[in-house]
This record gives sequence, structure tokens and C-alpha cells, in this order.
Amino acid sequence: METVDRDTAKKLFEHYRRQRDGIRNKPEMASICLICGSIHIIPKADDNRKLVCRNCGFAFYRYTCSACGRTIDGRDPKNPACGECGQRVCTCGVCDCAADTVIDNKGNV
Ligand SMILES: [Zn+2]
Ligand SMILES: [Zn+2]
Ligand SMILES: [Zn+2]
Repeated sequence: METVDRDTAKKLFEHYRRQRDGIRNKPEMASICLICGSIHIIPKADDNRKLVCRNCGFAFYRYTCSACGRTIDGRDPKNPACGECGQRVCTCGVCDCAADTVIDNKGNV
């Protein structure tokens, strides 16, 4: 995971608080909480697609798209939540629906 010094973190925090588009493309934003500005971010224990802030407890999605390899960040407006599967939708349009729906339909016979 990236490490960020406090000055950089503060600048990024202030920038992305106002302008959330682009968070997904900024590797440093994996280490910055957009709620409290803390850089104490750790992987969430029970969800490998989430990170959690140790300072305020805010958890957010940040993981790699299985289809195209781009980063998905739940705080980025270009990665909205999918109403069907609850996962985030990548800028390539892929979420968990494609794979899960097929398995579900066959598994429930
Ligand atoms: Zn926080
Ligand atoms: Zn993708
Ligand atoms: Zn979905």
C-alpha cells in the first residue's frame, strides 16, 4: 500500500473533498480517509474489497476490477453502487452482476 506524508495527504484530502471525480485514479487515495483526513487506513478484516480508517472507522470500497484491471473506489462518483449486487460498478461497466446472476439462476433449480 502507498504511504503518504502528512502534507501530501492534507493537499489531496482538501482537493478530493471538493472534487471526488478521479479518486479511483489516484493511488495515494487508498491511504487517505476522505471523512477525517487520516492516513491510518488498513484493509478491512472481513471484506477484501474494502479499506477502513482506523481513526474514524469509515470503510470504503477500493479494489481492482476483475474485468479490466482498473481501480474501483466507492468514493468516486464514477464508481456508483449497483442496485442489483451491491458492489461498485467499474468505469468499464462491470460489477458482480454478470458472473453472479448466472451462477444463481443455475444454482437455484
Ligand atoms: Zn477517517
Ligand atoms: Zn473494469
Ligand atoms: Zn451489479
